[in-house]
Amino acid sequence: MRNRWKNRFTTPAELSESFNVVAPQPLKPLLMHNLLRQPDWRRSLVLVNWNEAAHQLELPLSVLSAREAEFPGDPLLAEAGIPSAWSTRKTLAARTLCRALALPEDDPLRRVAEADPPTRLRSTTGWRQLGRSALIEAGAEGVTVEPRLEVPLLPWTTCRPIAFNLDVGPGGRRASSNETRREAARQHLAALPAQATWIWSDGSADAGVRRGGGGAVIFTASGETLEVEVAAGGLCSSTRAELFALRAALERVRDEPSPAPLVACSDSRAALSLLSAGAAAQTTTIGAAIWRTLLDIAERRQVTLQWVPAHCGLAENERADALAKQAATLPQGAVPSDARSLTRAVHRTATRQWRENWPDSFFKTIFGSTLPLPIPGEDREAAISVHQLRAGHWGRSLQYLHRIGRHPSVECLQCPDKRCPAALCAVCREEADVPEHVLLRCPVLAGARLRLTGSIYVDPSRLRDADLVAALEAGYLRHREPLGYGPP
Ligand SMILES: [Zn+2]
Ligand SMILES: [Zn+2]
Repeated sequence: MRNRWKNRFTTPAELSESFNVVAPQPLKPLLMHNLLRQPDWRRSLVLVNWNEAAHQLELPLSVLSAREAEFPGDPLLAEAGIPSAWSTRKTLAARTLCRALALPEDDPLRRVAEADPPTRLRSTTGWRQLGRSALIEAGAEGVTVEPRLEVPLLPWTTCRPIAFNLDVGPGGRRASSNETRREAARQHLAALPAQATWIWSDGSADAGVRRGGGGAVIFTASGETLEVEVAAGGLCSSTRAELFALRAALERVRDEPSPAPLVACSDSRAALSLLSAGAAAQTTTIGAAIWRTLLDIAERRQVTLQWVPAHCGLAENERADALAKQAATLPQGAVPSDARSLTRAVHRTATRQWRENWPDSFFKTIFGSTLPLPIPGEDREAAISVHQLRAGHWGRSLQYLHRIGRHPSVECLQCPDKRCPAALCAVCREEADVPEHVLLRCPVLAGARLRLTGSIYVDPSRLRDADLVAALEAGYLRHREPLGYGPP
């Protein structure tokens, strides 16, 4: 923590202690938030045992330095970049359930996962029920979980080297024009053996999470053209769809008698770099299956896996893309999904539900059901102010300071009334200086709003722009400073 916090609390006699153990690091801010919600905790002293943890907790705590009973908690959590306990709980339950269901059938944990918990034990065994309902909400009803990889391929399983080209030279970069990328790819591919079997595979997944499909077009060395389509699972990542496509295509040519080289082209760098780590490094069932086929084929033929730029008009790649999209509409029923894709789907669904259920607040008028982006730049104080203002809780607000007793006046020492004279905006005296007033309504900033946004009436959604919020705050503080309220 910052130095100003050090050695401030030498006699914690006024404090009662609470000792909590949290295993995974990312859960700490969440636990902290839940602890601070205790209604009878007025002050808290938090001790952490290493710098990084302190660092990680500092921003959330600064943004969260409000009591949930008095300020909407969801905006504060969202601004602090902390997922809600509500959605994290669902994700963790679904992950545990999926991992258990990926175990062999005779594994005791799998049997526990498959059984129905007795009602009287629901509080301790509820992860199964919660996980199941979360999976159904995420659209995974009836989806089978892919068995996890039991035996990894052994490090000494070697063969003739398999070449991985993850590039086609500088022209293939994303920033280049389509023509440049296509030309770079064509030139690069011309250097590969022409007398070969060529595979062009591609994957497709709606929004990168569901309805997976893999497609491939194969030009065999003997002059045949084959098309492959395969369903990749109702819940499926883009990379997994790519891997499904490649596996199906490789299996199709596995028994080809030809000794001619094999070239497999894919536009997924993620899939190819996953595979390029080697046979023994594969931790997924699909990755290991592909490597087994590759090893088989490489006994007899020279194998090259080649990355190609996507969507730049390479006819074969476009054709594979069309096949993949078509394959995504195949029946998915029998295709299992992996635990990771299922967990991700639950996480996305739960987070979306959480955002859609935010109560009405200043934050919601700004963001709707979207999440704030991280604020770039080095200045933490400024970032915290922006977060606080948008969350509807601003540490420099006189109304807030008056309410907690830090800004007494002659007439009133402390009160929660927003119409109390001590709570009014120091500059215009029209109403309390809540964030909404400062950013959207205070007349003293009319000129600044006009200059910054082109209108004196700012649409709340414009406040998603952190720079605008920071500029308005700075302008406001400059007007307030001469009135004796501290430096801006
Ligand atoms: Zn008052
Ligand atoms: Zn004002």
